[in-house]
Amino acid sequence: MPYEPVISKYWKTPESWTLKQYQSRGDYWGYAAAKKAITEFEPKALISYVKDSNLRGRGGAGFSTGLKWTFLPENGKPRFLAVNADESEPGTFKDRQILAYDPHQLIEGIIICCWAIGAKHAYVFVRGEFVREINRLQSAIDECYAAGILGEDVLRLGKGFKLDITVLRGAGAYICGEETGLLSAAEGKRAYPKIKPPFPAVEGFFRFPTIVNNVETLSNLPHIVGKGKEWYLQQGPAAGPGPKLYCISGHVRKPGVYEAPLGTKLRTLIDEYAGGVIGTLKAIIPGGSSMPIFTPDKLDLAMDFDTVRSAGSFLGSAGVIVMNDSVCMVNALLNLAKFYHHESCGQCTPCREGLGWLEKLVHRLEFGHAHDNDLDLIKEVCGMISKRTICLLSDSLVMPVESYMKAFFKEFEYHVKEKKCMTGGQPGVWAPCEEPALAR
Ligand code: SF4
Repeated sequence: MPYEPVISKYWKTPESWTLKQYQSRGDYWGYAAAKKAITEFEPKALISYVKDSNLRGRGGAGFSTGLKWTFLPENGKPRFLAVNADESEPGTFKDRQILAYDPHQLIEGIIICCWAIGAKHAYVFVRGEFVREINRLQSAIDECYAAGILGEDVLRLGKGFKLDITVLRGAGAYICGEETGLLSAAEGKRAYPKIKPPFPAVEGFFRFPTIVNNVETLSNLPHIVGKGKEWYLQQGPAAGPGPKLYCISGHVRKPGVYEAPLGTKLRTLIDEYAGGVIGTLKAIIPGGSSMPIFTPDKLDLAMDFDTVRSAGSFLGSAGVIVMNDSVCMVNALLNLAKFYHHESCGQCTPCREGLGWLEKLVHRLEFGHAHDNDLDLIKEVCGMISKRTICLLSDSLVMPVESYMKAFFKEFEYHVKEKKCMTGGQPGVWAPCEEPALAR
């Protein structure tokens, strides 16, 4: 049977972001799943239920959501939920769709999560540039307070469950998407990531136990509770199932966000969902710009957490970036090097200085000034950065550098020897597509 989307099912429905529309959907929608979770499950039983569904975090790491919830200590301190809506990874544009077109689905997921973990306050940290999304989310929250869905007695069920949701706006730094950087920013400080352990579940927001979950992860919860974990486990590989929002961009005919079960083949996503490649396929980034790159021989790979990992990359945020043979890989890498160097928060020397060195080295490769030993030097610099820093931002550049050089070594070598590009493009300028890009 063809897959029927659930998370994105109503995105094209007029006024899909309003409470009225959300409650008109019937079935388990319209806060019926949250009601079921609160009335039929004790919090611990709900955590076990979500753990048994094998829901894995959609923010990048793919860690078991239910298991993460069990890490909260029983120390009597207030607990918080921090929702990571600071979607900034290049090639990733799915959470903003949920915020803009179905914010009640997220709010319902927040209610279910907070009931399970015993949190009375959830903070949604949204990337500041998402003005429309923030407005829609805030107006959905306001509707919920007015309808008695949030506040002193959630859904007026008389269970003594109080919940407030506060929206916080970021100020445009990629590092706010790192969970401890997000918490620092939410506390009103610079978005400096913190050394782990302690992990946020033990010591998070203002040093209180805090669960950090991604928007898409929480949006899965109404469906797990509403349709049942048995249904959920059938959507993709049992070790990490469920609906997935794949963001497909680059040289494809129909770039966009597409919902399909985890484990859908890369070829299906590109050819059937995104309308196929414009020109000849050269490379694919499977999970957002920081993930190691794939060559076209990986097209028949199942796009789920474990399969992509065993093939040498990561599903990450499922931001699939497709490149055709007009792309110079040195040029593409320079683009990433500039970005990650710029976004380094500067706390760790290997990241602050090392990413700068990588940018300089790739820059001189691209512009024909490379020294004979620069490829070795790049590898050496990568070795001095990786796993020596507080957070993984530094590896977000090291991984692409190492994988681009491995997969397209001849191209990098050509830049060193010939001082120009194999693809014939102008240094520093993206070569045009073979066909004009289609309107989105
Ligand atoms: Fe900041 Fe980079 Fe260190 Fe992360 S790795 S804490 S971004 S300096």
